[in-house]
Amino acid sequence: MEYLPLHLEKKIISLIEKAERIVILSHKNPDGDAMGSSLGLYHFLDSKERDVRVIVPTEYAEFLHWLPGNESVIIYKKEPEVAREFVDKADLIFSLDFNDLKRLGKLGEIVEGNKTASRILIDHHPDPKHFCDVEFSTVYVSSTAELVYHLIQRIDDQAMNNKDIRECLYVGIMTDTGCFSFNSSNPSTFLTVAHLLKSGINKDSIYDRIYNNFSAGRMKLMGYCLDHKMVILPEYHTAYISLSKKEMKEYDFKIGDSEGFVNLPLSIEGIRFSALFIEKSGHTKISFRSNGNFPANKFSSNHFGGGGHLNAAGGESLKSLEDSIKFFVSLLPDYTKWLI
Ligand code: 5GP
Ligand code: MN
Repeated sequence: MEYLPLHLEKKIISLIEKAERIVILSHKNPDGDAMGSSLGLYHFLDSKERDVRVIVPTEYAEFLHWLPGNESVIIYKKEPEVAREFVDKADLIFSLDFNDLKRLGKLGEIVEGNKTASRILIDHHPDPKHFCDVEFSTVYVSSTAELVYHLIQRIDDQAMNNKDIRECLYVGIMTDTGCFSFNSSNPSTFLTVAHLLKSGINKDSIYDRIYNNFSAGRMKLMGYCLDHKMVILPEYHTAYISLSKKEMKEYDFKIGDSEGFVNLPLSIEGIRFSALFIEKSGHTKISFRSNGNFPANKFSSNHFGGGGHLNAAGGESLKSLEDSIKFFVSLLPDYTKWLI
């Protein structure tokens, strides 16, 4: 399947050729696809001797820190002035794995301040908000990493000899498909993966470094959530888990420790919709997952100022943890058309 029309390919190539300073941005709380796709593109542009940096708004889970190129990533929250300088001086800005500048938080305002840089979007979320000059965007693909693969292949079919590029892109695809359990019915994803795994990539070792790399605290927290914090609402085929700051402190919570918890209730027979509420300072962060045609992204954008994919979305609430949950439960009767 051809995802990249020729006119877009030509535009992107000419922008890369002209660019002297390139910045690659991805979204808040970056996940495996955000980091894998960004670093995959970083290694490609670096190999073409471009001056390139990956900048993300916030820290990310430790199980992603082994990715090649990790040491060069700038985290805006930790080094706001360094990040600002790179964004201000960039003449080409890539936006990867998000569809709205709001997903960058304050970093988005800095991006808006650079009026001269060209902007390229590479993303697989629905309804991009048109903040880029060139949009390489489709929902019919597993991950942003898969789109980056197609772009790189079209520019230089020898580039995949670079193991760093292949490892990073593989991590993006593997994590965004839950190890090929969803968003991966298109055989073309497996053709891409087959190519990425050629010569010298140990897929089992990558799996270990991502999924068998958790702290004991995280495993205990997972057990606690399932035993004590999961609430099942059988009448709505829905379940949710919540975590307060106090509980997270008790389990020595680190960034990434709750990754995947929101998927757990979907393993229960009959559960079609799941939510995870995390208490933050001044707001509540919420993740949503669904199966079938329940639009988790619409639910999130309608009520929690968020968005995402049909079956995986997120949002925020300015209400307390308890009130956010009450509000969530009060909305369910309006969604029985999808849930029941
Ligand atoms: P997660 O629940 O893993 O944080 O995110 C799941 C999906 O929802 C991802 O595609 C992510 O980009 C999107 N998402 C998460 N939080 C938000 C949010 O606050 N706003 C929007 N628009 N999308 C979000
Ligand atoms: Mn993604």
